[in-house]
Amino acid sequence: MEIEIPYNLENYIGGQFLPPDSHNYIDNINPATGKVCGLIPNSSESDVNKAVQSAKVAFETWSVSSTEYRFKILNKIADLIDQYHEFLALAETNDNGKPLWLSKEVDIPRASSNFRFFATASIQFASESHAMESGINYTLRQPIGIVGCISPWNLPLYLFTWKIAPALAAGNCVIAKPSEVTPVTGYLLAKICKEAGLPDGVLNIVHGDGPNCGEAIVQHPSIKAISFTGSTRAGQRIASIAAPMFKKLSLELGGKNPNIIFADCDWNKMMFNTIRSSFGNQGQICLCGSRILIEASIYDKFKNEFIERAKRLTVGDPLLPTSKQGAIVSKTHFEKIISCIELAKKEGGRILHGGNAIKPSGRCEEGYFIEPTIIENLGPDCKTNTEEIFGPVVTLQKFTDKDEAIMLANATQYGLAASVWTQDISNANYMASNIESGIVWINCWLERDLRTPFGGIKNSGVGREGGWDAMRFFTEPKNVCIQY
Ligand code: NAP
Repeated sequence: MEIEIPYNLENYIGGQFLPPDSHNYIDNINPATGKVCGLIPNSSESDVNKAVQSAKVAFETWSVSSTEYRFKILNKIADLIDQYHEFLALAETNDNGKPLWLSKEVDIPRASSNFRFFATASIQFASESHAMESGINYTLRQPIGIVGCISPWNLPLYLFTWKIAPALAAGNCVIAKPSEVTPVTGYLLAKICKEAGLPDGVLNIVHGDGPNCGEAIVQHPSIKAISFTGSTRAGQRIASIAAPMFKKLSLELGGKNPNIIFADCDWNKMMFNTIRSSFGNQGQICLCGSRILIEASIYDKFKNEFIERAKRLTVGDPLLPTSKQGAIVSKTHFEKIISCIELAKKEGGRILHGGNAIKPSGRCEEGYFIEPTIIENLGPDCKTNTEEIFGPVVTLQKFTDKDEAIMLANATQYGLAASVWTQDISNANYMASNIESGIVWINCWLERDLRTPFGGIKNSGVGREGGWDAMRFFTEPKNVCIQY
């Protein structure tokens, strides 16, 4: 297949590339240059209806296809993602503003490993049986039918495939929507699925904005489950529509994650990873540690070295290998982050480093760039420390003992992820069991095992993705009881 970065995107419905019924398009902007680089279908209910019709027909054969067949096709998709790795990485960087080396090292390899993992899951997935004296129960886990997958802009292909792959592996047909801010790799995935021989209508990708196209998916009565990753605000809206319709819901939402550093930590490892967890992907990873909690005895030492290391993070053209930080994803998000920094100052925050927009010279002079920003002197209750910023902005707070660290860690409505840095195994276990979050990393960050449950508690979401959790979400259990 010849693939090239498209200018005009089209929906992928029933195996065909189609314009939106409205013939309306939205501008796609490269955030590193601030320039329009393409057009995205502004799809609506009628496009979603068409996709559902195609999915209904495809479901009749896909849902009863052999797991071996699904395994082969999903594996082929993974192989093609690897084959087009360089090309997909460039498309992701142009859309999102993240450094090209990051797209190459993380986003695209993780997208193909999602497909490869769930290809295998399709042939290994098993269900339970429960023996009684008088008979036996066995549980069928059947595909749900047509499911909706809606994903955000921060890790575009990576999170899109994290939903689509298990949904297909479990035998469902999918209506999927990437973020309108970063739609190109979603479009290219459709091309790849076509080349891999995925039957028409099994995966349908509609492009458009959240309130129109996204809500049309959530509202459609034939779509029986919604897997959503995005903001808590949109998650609340989606839940308010889907819950009264008794749809299955998986909501992976925002975070305000604590990164807790004890004096006995492995210093170099902690420092290396804290720079990553603070500013990786311009701080636009739901798992970033935006609140750094430091044991008082090492607070000044930490602060000084952390600032020095942050100064060495070159912000600039994401296509250059020397750029450690790229552009913020959009003008709207750039303005939100700048306003959060202004709010932090009003709340009494002291900017230790950064705090400003950057205008690189040359092709990126109209792009959306912000310095890595470090703030101290703010208490746990202010907005800066309780509301998600989702940018290259971290705060520093000190604690005197582990119980104070736990109190600070839990002082938000979010509960997605936490990191703890200590060499004391008892302390590590104590912290892990008392921190209110779905994921706790001890002496690491962003380590990935696709079998583990992934998701948050409190306002960070409902349900878990990954491994058997994803396969269970995308299937409906049916118990069969047989009397001897
Ligand atoms: P967002 O605005 O909530 O959008 C996420 C997706 O939902 C996009 O495709 C969006 O479409 C769509 N959408 C928005 N409103 C909708 C509605 N009413 N009905 C249906 N779909 C709707 O989030 P974002 O700004 O793209 O992403 C950043 C957020 O995602 C952060 O809060 C971050 O923490 C969270 N996140 C969470 C995880 C996790 O695993 N917990 C992972 C990554 C990101 P458009 O963009 O096209 O409008």
